[in-house]
Amino acid sequence: MRRKIIAANWKMNFVPLEAKAFAAELVPLVDVDDVDVVICAPHVMLCPVRTATKDTRVAVGVQNMHFEDKGAYTGEISAPMLAHFDVEYVILGHSERRAYFAETDALVNKKAKKALAAGLIPIICVGETLEQREQNITIEFIRIQTKLALAGIDSADAAKVVIAYEPIWAIGTGVTATAEQAEEACAALRQVLAEIYDKDTAEKIRIQYGGSVTPGNAAELFAQPNIDGALVGGASLSLDFEKIVKYGGG
Ligand code: PEP
Repeated sequence: MRRKIIAANWKMNFVPLEAKAFAAELVPLVDVDDVDVVICAPHVMLCPVRTATKDTRVAVGVQNMHFEDKGAYTGEISAPMLAHFDVEYVILGHSERRAYFAETDALVNKKAKKALAAGLIPIICVGETLEQREQNITIEFIRIQTKLALAGIDSADAAKVVIAYEPIWAIGTGVTATAEQAEEACAALRQVLAEIYDKDTAEKIRIQYGGSVTPGNAAELFAQPNIDGALVGGASLSLDFEKIVKYGGG
């Protein structure tokens, strides 16, 4: 039985004082034992978030990292630096990073390897555009994204990884994939994981759905057999996130 994992993606929101106040209010409400809860904050908010989550079950994550440990990469932050701040998770290959910062599958793969080497758990995002869905190539496309992201990662490491199926047309749009559409994609991802590794490993890997998850649609999504939680953007900026976490429990 896979444990559900619900991650907040704050994106580029809040300033540290706001993050401090919001985290102080939110964390006690989502400090639960039946679901893994992660807050993926901007790097400069790690200190307030870490303070709020100290001695709780809520984990800290970030939304990006560099693919090398150190060196002449002005403005970048590496996995070992993040590990030093008790960061446990890192979102990789979010569609916004792929679209605005030209992140490729090869880059996501390099970052995933470095994250795992530093003891961080990558939350690897895959998902199709509306055009790809209309062309009926969703499954083919997300299978390839997943294979490229995991290339060269062994089954022991892969079992720790979280995959987030995030149809791009559903991110921040208020349009959610139906539970059937989300389940179909997540089941296909589990199938490709079994092909890359084996059935046992595929059964261990957690697959989230992401794309306009709200308290209104979370329960139906979480009831699907291959959906192991959610990556939540907009609704993670308010106490709606607590309600979503509650739907993930039990
Ligand atoms: C996301 O940022 O990964 C996301 C799914 O955003 P939203 O929940 O706002 O669609």
